[in-house]
Amino acid sequence: MKRIGVLTSGGDAPGMNAAVRAVVRKAIYHDMEIYGVFGGYAGLMSGNIKKLELGSVGDIIHRGGTFLQSARSEEFKTKEGRQKGIEQLKKHGIEGLVVIGGDGSYRGAMLLTEEGFPCVGVPGTIDNDIPGTEFTIGFDTAVNTVIDAVDKIRDTASSHERTFVIEVMGRNAGDIALWAGLAGGAETILIPEAEQDIQEIAQRLKNGQERGKKHSIIIVAEGVMSGYEAGKQIEEVTKMDTRVTVLGHVQRGGTPTVTDRVLASRLGARAVELLLNNTGGRAVGIENNQLVDYDIIEALAMPHKIDLDIYKLSKELSI
Ligand code: ADP
Repeated sequence: MKRIGVLTSGGDAPGMNAAVRAVVRKAIYHDMEIYGVFGGYAGLMSGNIKKLELGSVGDIIHRGGTFLQSARSEEFKTKEGRQKGIEQLKKHGIEGLVVIGGDGSYRGAMLLTEEGFPCVGVPGTIDNDIPGTEFTIGFDTAVNTVIDAVDKIRDTASSHERTFVIEVMGRNAGDIALWAGLAGGAETILIPEAEQDIQEIAQRLKNGQERGKKHSIIIVAEGVMSGYEAGKQIEEVTKMDTRVTVLGHVQRGGTPTVTDRVLASRLGARAVELLLNNTGGRAVGIENNQLVDYDIIEALAMPHKIDLDIYKLSKELSI
């Protein structure tokens, strides 16, 4: 391919900019032309497409969010909507498209490929819930943001002998809760992948309290229940002063960590290599620190695997 496009779609994630930069620079390095699609799939359908140069992606490697802007579009879920997108791409002479986004964005990329336009998916989401990769771009930064908050809350929890419930993002995947829970020394982690009885948890906290434990930190992924609900149920059993913090959208933003910038640069460049060789319909990822790529249909059919060894370890270490 000689002319390709790049877009970011769905929820933004820190490191998306570093990925776009890698796509643009790698393409130009290989004498390809590169076009930016602004505003995700909505921008694709409306033709918000501009040629990018080396300088277009200067000074963005360290910025959160995405300078290409992101969007959600219901129309793109229809075949007619996607045809509009394909027409726009063809109008600009674009032969392949790099889609940086989450699960939903991958589905769009898969359908575009099936309908005749080759795409490569790059995993960009803080949730770490994309199959075919151990880590997604943005996850490391999000967990570091959560840990910063957990550490601060721990200071006040120990000063006031309180129980703190911290709600973090993760509707279907508990990765943020799990990693932040282990790294933050939480007493209990509630994730969608492991069923837990809140009454039993509360009883365990109460036992700890009776043994002289002064404070506890519980991390709950939003997909399990709200932090307020968890706090209410725990307080009913333990009668301990329980406070709830919902971290919300602070987890989405911020300066990407080194890990995310390096991952984004590697994955973005690999996506371009695939298109350079006329290989579309792939999803790139990282496994055992090696870059991998899968058929995007197969990747989407794989289950997302959370590391339950980490879950087990966090339980063992929080007795
Ligand atoms: P994410 O990519 O972060 O998971 P979304 O699920 O909102 O975010 O998906 C982003 C966009 O991808 C949607 O707004 C829609 O335009 C497109 N998309 C999502 N699911 C599908 C689907 N099943 N078919 C086609 N396009 C989809």
